[in-house]
Amino acid sequence: MKPDLFPEHIRPHLIPRPEGELFYKCLGCGARHSVEKLLYVCPECGAVLMIHNQNQAELHKISGTTWQQIFDYRRMLKIPALKGIYRYHEFIGPIIPLESIIYLGEGHTPVVEASAFLQDKVGLRFFYKNDGQNPSASFKDRGMASALSCIKYLIDQGFVSDVIAVCASTGDTSAAAALYASYLGPLVKSAVLLPNKKVTVQQLSQPLGSGARVFEIPGVFDDCMKIVEQLSSQYPVALLNSKNAWRILGQESYSYEIAQDFDWDMTHKAVVVPIGNAGNISAVMNGFLKFFKAGIINQLPKILGVQSEHADPVYQYYLEPDKTKRIFTPVDTRPSVAQAAMIGNPVSMPRVVAIAEEYNRESGHDNVFFVQVTEQAIMDWQLTANQNGHIACTQGGECLAGLVKARAMDLISVNETAVLDATAHAIKFSEFQDLYFKNQIPRSYHIVPDPDRINLPELISPDNPDLVPSQEKRLGKSEFTQFVQNISTKIAKKMALSPVDP
Ligand SMILES: *Cc1c(COP(=O)(O)O)cnc(C)c1O
Ligand SMILES: [Zn+2]
Repeated sequence: MKPDLFPEHIRPHLIPRPEGELFYKCLGCGARHSVEKLLYVCPECGAVLMIHNQNQAELHKISGTTWQQIFDYRRMLKIPALKGIYRYHEFIGPIIPLESIIYLGEGHTPVVEASAFLQDKVGLRFFYKNDGQNPSASFKDRGMASALSCIKYLIDQGFVSDVIAVCASTGDTSAAAALYASYLGPLVKSAVLLPNKKVTVQQLSQPLGSGARVFEIPGVFDDCMKIVEQLSSQYPVALLNSKNAWRILGQESYSYEIAQDFDWDMTHKAVVVPIGNAGNISAVMNGFLKFFKAGIINQLPKILGVQSEHADPVYQYYLEPDKTKRIFTPVDTRPSVAQAAMIGNPVSMPRVVAIAEEYNRESGHDNVFFVQVTEQAIMDWQLTANQNGHIACTQGGECLAGLVKARAMDLISVNETAVLDATAHAIKFSEFQDLYFKNQIPRSYHIVPDPDRINLPELISPDNPDLVPSQEKRLGKSEFTQFVQNISTKIAKKMALSPVDP
């Protein structure tokens, strides 16, 4: 729809202008720092940062209902910069002019209700939000669209030039970073560090295909992370891990979309998120908080963070009910099929602690919960979800296992509706499905394949081995008819079909 056809009271807000005044705020010492240079930790105390808007109160002068209408009307615009996460420009990155925004098709991912059969099995109503339907097939694109739009903005303003972007990754961060950085080539070059043999073949192919320098490092993700931290503190590189607060800002769009997907009604809603480096759960909570404070949503949905028992430092931290006694201890991870979340020392832990506390306070009751699931449950629920019409990755399976666990613990009631984050596309993690189906999952995962869930292809060969069509040698007409007849009979027999009456 053309801008002049929109209602009069919406028109002035329809196409956002750069405004607001953003600054980094240190979660450790509270110091403020300018966003005009690339910064990842506080130069004074080394703690992680969050981005705040000095003029946030200005946004609260517009009523919640008007904001809802602005976002609903913006859906009808055909302006690329406003088609993705920047539909919520004022809450995502208000200083970024539309010309600096990078849009590669991210965001506004489908919300798909689970089938009646599956909901029955799980015992309550739930939806998957398919973030695997982003351009690089994971939610990381939301944060990268924000981080790279910020870099483009800094380049356009002349604050930086010839950027070398780096990240450590459990696979999906590097796929997204390499994709978005390559769009800004040759202004931006990227390098990614991956733990050797700890990412799937698909995930390794993604940054290679986007033309990034790919370095494989012995060890696990936490080891790679230390190396990029060292690099970013000693060399002029742009860090694209979720330590970068712009990533968090972009990932807040996930919550804004859920609010809009459910027509701004968050009553009896629960949002389920897998936790790795804990950037995403921080962003999800922060997004809902911002919309709640602006009156755009009526209440804060319940948050359920899920971790595998093989990588559960956040869960362990919250096991202590007395918050004054909680002590964070990194854990050594064990092999996990939720490999993208296999992190023992999450960089965003201070964010989780601070934001969860505010979230509970603003909710007026405990509203953030953490559950731990087994590797067996992750795999079994992922396969069950996908055998019922979903495209969940192993981390999406972790969410469903977490929902089932939370229901069993009575952390969620049958009257609530859950929205599960399918954080990546199933095909990125098909290696684990393969190992399960072939009964080859290494023992260290502690998974025993359930024979009822195993699905393998069957080769059907004709009785006469000479009657096989090939590209090199086509069969004669009667031989081919015989081949077709023979094979169809065999398939019909395997499927217990009886012929229809002629
Ligand atoms: C990165 C990632 C996670 C974990 O998110 P964090 O922000 O690191 O907690 C979960 N699932 C997938 C598919 C991911 O790529
Ligand atoms: Zn500080």
